[in-house]
Amino acid sequence: MVQNYSIWSLIKHALSGKKWTPTWQKTISPKPSYDVIIIGGGGHGLATAYYLAHTFNITNVAVVEKGWLGGGNVARNTTIVRSNYLHTPSAMIYEHALKLWKTLSAELVYNVMFSQRGVFNLAHDETEKRDIKRRVNANQLNGIHSQWKEPDEIKNLCPIININENCRFPVLGGSFQPDGGVARHDAVAWGFAHKASLAGVDIIEQCEVIDIKTNQNRISEIITTKGNIKAGKVAIVAAANSSVLANMAGFDIPIKTHPLQALVSEPVKPIMPTVVMSNAVHAYVSQSDKGELVVGAGIDGFQSYVPTGSFNVIEASIAALLQLFPTFSRLKMMRQWAGNVDIAPDASPIIGHTPVKDLYINCGWGTGGFKATPGSGYALAHTIAYDKVHETNKHHTLERFFTGALVAEHGAAAVAH
Ligand SMILES: Cc1cc2nc3c(=O)[nH]c(=O)nc-3n(C[C@H](O)[C@H](O)[C@H](O)COP(=O)(O)OP(=O)(O)OC[C@H]3O[C@@H](n4cnc5c(N)ncnc54)[C@H](O)[C@@H]3O)c2cc1C
Repeated sequence: MVQNYSIWSLIKHALSGKKWTPTWQKTISPKPSYDVIIIGGGGHGLATAYYLAHTFNITNVAVVEKGWLGGGNVARNTTIVRSNYLHTPSAMIYEHALKLWKTLSAELVYNVMFSQRGVFNLAHDETEKRDIKRRVNANQLNGIHSQWKEPDEIKNLCPIININENCRFPVLGGSFQPDGGVARHDAVAWGFAHKASLAGVDIIEQCEVIDIKTNQNRISEIITTKGNIKAGKVAIVAAANSSVLANMAGFDIPIKTHPLQALVSEPVKPIMPTVVMSNAVHAYVSQSDKGELVVGAGIDGFQSYVPTGSFNVIEASIAALLQLFPTFSRLKMMRQWAGNVDIAPDASPIIGHTPVKDLYINCGWGTGGFKATPGSGYALAHTIAYDKVHETNKHHTLERFFTGALVAEHGAAAVAH
């Protein structure tokens, strides 16, 4: 049984020499059938299971994960959370997520270390300046806290930034979202798993889905490396592997999978009070609570399912970043890693029904889905529970690729998150 700990019980337990109970309960073998099966134990899959159980009272749920919990993009990202996208449909889903972030630690009884330290998106030429100002205006109309800042105001909030106008990437200003920030990514997976597991959700690791069976165009069962499991409803929440799973069920989705890399430096004293992102520089940086600078790079230009990126990509990002932050030149980078991101043609997510009855999909978050984790999980859980899209994902269904009602967010999403 998973337990919640108070501070006193933590101290008592630490001194007693007893074994710790796990944060979430592992299920080794799946049951023969479930009301709902979620394919993918990343942040979005676990959040979906949590909201199904807690908000929509559907608890006969399994999350099947081919690797280990938190082994996918949920714990490979650079943890930036913001909602300042251009279009109203995006504002709806990302802003709803931001509201959920604010109370998430208390709700999950698990500290996801959500820190609202503010996020800058920099402009380095007149076109970017115009685009970002347009986004700020659109954000304000949608009730999102977004402001335009001049270079000296940026310097005021982030003193180590170089605003010399003669450098390679001169800072001409930028947007600032004060309630954006960062969260601890693996804690988000563990926190959702913790509360979902308490509600009776089975979380099954090392359980790869290798086929999806339908009967008269309705979902019937999934074939996994731990046997066949029947399901009333199934959701594909598999990020980079979404198109592979869609193909198993007999349809295509317009997703391309690319490597995306990040790096961390050696830890240093607090020098970076906010998050700074730049599309032109192709980098985004924040400082972790341990003091490491967390730097994200651009995607590799080619498609790949291999979670390693090319050296030239990080080399270019770091070289450009040094123009913005010359003081970083003496830092040692400690670690580099990559994930594989699922990119839709309009740089917006897909959440909703599929051509197969009772089979749902949530993917296409590309380089920026971490920030949406609670909002995305909520929207998909609602869609599954009522077989009807939620207000926040009604513009994000697969249907838009047939109607042409795309939600083009390349400027706000781009490589930056
Ligand atoms: C380097 C990097 C930096 C990023 N930075 C940010 C950022 O700062 N802010 C932001 O908002 N977003 C960021 N992102 C994007 C964000 O991480 C993703 O959009 C988001 O995490 C995707 O959702 P997820 O957590 O559910 O995916 P994942 O954690 O990848 O979950 C999908 C799961 O499905 C499982 N799976 C796949 N196939 C199968 C199968 N056949 N059977 C069973 N299980 C299967 C996988 O093993 C995986 O665990 C970044 C991504 C990367 C790689």
